[in-house]
Amino acid sequence: MTTTAAEPRPKVSADEAREVAEAAREQEWSQPSFVRELFLGSLRMDLIHPYPEQSPEEVARAQPFLAKLEALLRTVDADAIDRSGEIPREIVDGLKAIGAFGIKIPTEYGGLGLSQLSYMKAIQLVSSVDGSVTALLSAHQSIGVPQPLKLFGTEEQKRRFFPRLAKGAVSAFALTEPNVGSDPAAMETTAVLSEDGQHWILNGEKLWCTNGTIADLLVVMARTPSKMVRGKEKKQITAFIVEATAPGVEVTHRCHFMGLKAIYNGTVRFTNVAVPRDNVLWGEGKGLKLALVTLNTGRLTLPVSAVAAAKRCLQIVRHWANERVQWGKPIGKHDAIAQKIGAMAANLFAMEAIAELCGLMAERGGADIRLEAAIAKLYNSEAGWRIIDDTLQVRGGRGYETADSLRARGETPWPVERIMRDFRINLIFEGSSEIMHLFIAREAVDKHLEVAGAVVMPGKAVGERLAGLVRSALFYGWWYPSRWIGWSWWPKYGAFGPLAPHVRFVERAARRLARNAFHAMLRFGPRLEQRQSVLFRLVDVGGELFAMAAACSRARRELLREPETGRHAVALADLFCRQARARVRVKFANLWRNEDVPTYRVAQEVLRGEHVWLERGMVDLRGITLR
Ligand SMILES: Cc1cc2nc3c(=O)[nH]c(=O)nc-3n(C[C@H](O)[C@H](O)[C@H](O)COP(=O)(O)OP(=O)(O)OC[C@H]3O[C@@H](n4cnc5c(N)ncnc54)[C@H](O)[C@@H]3O)c2cc1C
Repeated sequence: MTTTAAEPRPKVSADEAREVAEAAREQEWSQPSFVRELFLGSLRMDLIHPYPEQSPEEVARAQPFLAKLEALLRTVDADAIDRSGEIPREIVDGLKAIGAFGIKIPTEYGGLGLSQLSYMKAIQLVSSVDGSVTALLSAHQSIGVPQPLKLFGTEEQKRRFFPRLAKGAVSAFALTEPNVGSDPAAMETTAVLSEDGQHWILNGEKLWCTNGTIADLLVVMARTPSKMVRGKEKKQITAFIVEATAPGVEVTHRCHFMGLKAIYNGTVRFTNVAVPRDNVLWGEGKGLKLALVTLNTGRLTLPVSAVAAAKRCLQIVRHWANERVQWGKPIGKHDAIAQKIGAMAANLFAMEAIAELCGLMAERGGADIRLEAAIAKLYNSEAGWRIIDDTLQVRGGRGYETADSLRARGETPWPVERIMRDFRINLIFEGSSEIMHLFIAREAVDKHLEVAGAVVMPGKAVGERLAGLVRSALFYGWWYPSRWIGWSWWPKYGAFGPLAPHVRFVERAARRLARNAFHAMLRFGPRLEQRQSVLFRLVDVGGELFAMAAACSRARRELLREPETGRHAVALADLFCRQARARVRVKFANLWRNEDVPTYRVAQEVLRGEHVWLERGMVDLRGITLR
């Protein structure tokens, strides 16, 4: 077995990919953002504290639907769904009948008209039972047609599509292609105007389209003819609503995965599909921005799914670690297992605070939550995965055994093995962990790029550089010193009681984070983009600080609501913050002293085949031809 190190030639250069992504970014910050301020070294607790409350009217409006949903979910056999790879017809019909396909669609178009948080509560209930049903509902209304239609559709489009969607016409979101994963610049699906100008003619193939095999409607992103802007070609990506029954739309394959066995996911081919001009969403060339903005709130589904999985895991370990006796005592009394359970409870408390806070902020309005939602997605999916891994360990061999096998042996069929398989994709889709780090890092340094970009970035004219220097002197002259000074010690934040020291820590650490981000910019200049490990540590610190602030604010709310639960909440927030502070200290310590450079070097050696000797001693896999 030999390999060669031929480097694949990219279809799109890194510069081009960056340009397309930049063009699709939301450039404006017209509303305040808690996390953006945090990265700039300022703790704006007023943006998240007092912890917002859902309006009693909304709670009352959502309650009958949530009760019906809960009753329906009690009839779902998730192991049977996992086994058969199909969601029973009566469950899908039941969901349609109670309005679960139109939760956020306004009532005037036939939907339930519920808020983002009510929708998230519904998804949490669904996720506590079955991941495939979550995928069906959330691909439809977190990213499928209803969400971009609500945000960007014309009145005529809303009247045309919303009533169908609310009644249960299933929709899907088709962005990914074989050569387009995290980087949409390489998109190959095209749309060109027909000769009479009445239709767009769509050609191409989309990969891994969730709901694609059963969809009635799809949002499809496609490349439309480039435009020349100031003598430069600007690539255009446009979003279309496509009828699945239109001639030329074909599902070519249903994909199968390690988990989510009943996800209706496939490759969809478009051959000369005539899409009416009126089906363009938002406008020509705005498709990528539409996809990114849709995902900004669409991503909030995943954090609550992670909360649901973590709740189930806590329930499982509570039962099992009490019941299972080894070495003379319940395993929960052994320190190694107890450490996992304690951390699990504290992390779940913080994860729920993050997700709920984002939902409440989305509902209340008045804040830009794109960074909060991104951190919620990143933080909760990563923390959720660790909780599931620990649960499997606590369950020992039974964690690795399928629920069916446990049931057949007469044991409680806790489905840890299935939960793990179903959950893993959460770290990949709707923005992989790596892409979320990059997204957050880009937004976090945005202010610095705005002020000093012309100074540090290559290819700028002398005039631009001089203007940048003046701007930098004016801004950093007060900003930088102020990131060193400021009182964040006793008695500040005294209203948080025993949690006050943690809030003070968040404030001090935010200033340190901002200083370090600035130092990293000075030290690496434009090369900072390549030092992803440095950027990722900064982002991780920001994530921990947001989680701590959310946990403290939530604990305070619980205490005011109900003293008994409140005391427990404070204890959990305290433990979470202690553990998070330790993680923050390590991230800061590793920021400047690390093994990033030698590790990168070895990785490149591996990729060049220089360590292929390490792979000796294996039998070649059948059906895989090595280059
Ligand atoms: C079950 C399932 C359901 C899905 N549903 C949908 C759907 O409904 N609609 C849809 O459009 N798509 C869907 N997808 C696609 C999903 O969104 C993509 O898998 C995801 O965007 C990642 O793309 P990729 O798999 O091609 O990975 P790649 O982009 O090829 O990335 C591979 C790895 O490299 C990392 N990476 C990539 N770029 C960078 C970088 N610049 N810096 C550092 N690391 C990087 C990634 O994080 C990842 O770890 C689905 C996928 C699955 C498996």
